[in-house]
Amino acid sequence: MRRVIIHLDMDAFFAAVEQLDNPELRGKPIIVGGSPDNRGVVATCSYEARRFGVRSAMPLSEAKRRCPDCVFVRGRMSRYSEISRSVFAIMADYSPQMERVSIDEAFLDVTKSEPLFGPGAQIGRTIQQRITDELGLSASVGVAPNKFVAKVASDLRKPQGLVVVPPEQVVSFLAPLGIERIWGVGPRAAQILHSLGLYTIGDVQKCRVEILSDRLGVYGQRLHELSHGLDERPVAEQDDVKSVGHEHTFDSDVSNIEVLRGVLLHLASKVGRRLRKGQVKGKTITLKLRYMDFSTFTRQSPLPGATDLDLDIYHAADKLLVRLFDGRPVRLIGVSVSNLAPEGENAEQLDLFHPDTGKSRRLIETMDRIRNKHGDGIISYAKESEFPPE
Ligand SMILES: [Mg+2]
Repeated sequence: MRRVIIHLDMDAFFAAVEQLDNPELRGKPIIVGGSPDNRGVVATCSYEARRFGVRSAMPLSEAKRRCPDCVFVRGRMSRYSEISRSVFAIMADYSPQMERVSIDEAFLDVTKSEPLFGPGAQIGRTIQQRITDELGLSASVGVAPNKFVAKVASDLRKPQGLVVVPPEQVVSFLAPLGIERIWGVGPRAAQILHSLGLYTIGDVQKCRVEILSDRLGVYGQRLHELSHGLDERPVAEQDDVKSVGHEHTFDSDVSNIEVLRGVLLHLASKVGRRLRKGQVKGKTITLKLRYMDFSTFTRQSPLPGATDLDLDIYHAADKLLVRLFDGRPVRLIGVSVSNLAPEGENAEQLDLFHPDTGKSRRLIETMDRIRNKHGDGIISYAKESEFPPE
């Protein structure tokens, strides 16, 4: 079966968090791992330090020799864990099938999420953007048909890289890369492969599998498969959180509730449309407001039944808006629907706000058809047209 796998890896994670929390460290070569006088190794270093040849796992004393002006930071695991949880929470919004590899790295199987959130590349970009906007950090993302290729892809254009490898390009994508990028190829295997005249993954692709097995034992077969980008391992599931949402950031802060409502309706209709496209309905509405000073509030409201209708989402969110909004200028507004279930699993049709649900469904299906054919901007609710859609 065709799969779409995302691999996400935070860029210079510990160092980036230190630079985020301590503005005076920004733009400077910094090394996280302890003082250069002790015998530890570099946990992470900033990109500025990498320019001096400093690398992860290098002895701190060696790092100090290469980059005498580096700032050495001890590291704060509890802070990194806290941010790590936020990163994974963002990823979990796009699929329940997530496998954490380390504190700053995870796989996400988005095969079944594409109808809801768009192609894998778009999901990858969205996650990356949210990490930048919400956490002030950068991540690199690979999108590919399996874990191996996704991981190679995410590592290729760091920092802030997004590398997408469609299934038909896997073999040619891998071919020019060095054999060291293949999982399991350490210095020893690399030496053996070099002695056979094999330097790139393309060289391994062309090599007869018998020769590889002869020199590398059982790993030879596996190496041959990986060189062709074949990797069937599933993404191990860990979490089960899922929601569909949209947000809007204003160019200038807005304190007029009618303008907020117009935007909210626009966002609700985008959410509704995606739910219908993905053939799911949700039972919980969440409203998010961020004020000018970046203070952010969310409020949730359970619905008596599941819905995928724009106006159900809008009215529930509007009730939350009236409760939450305190008149201060708003910078960002968002609405999401969670507690999702496939259509049909919630047999009861929710009829919160429309006595004639059949009629509103027919209307909305007509709107969907028109938008699918002519694009999003072609039709909108009257209230919605009071502001420009993003
Ligand atoms: Mg990383």
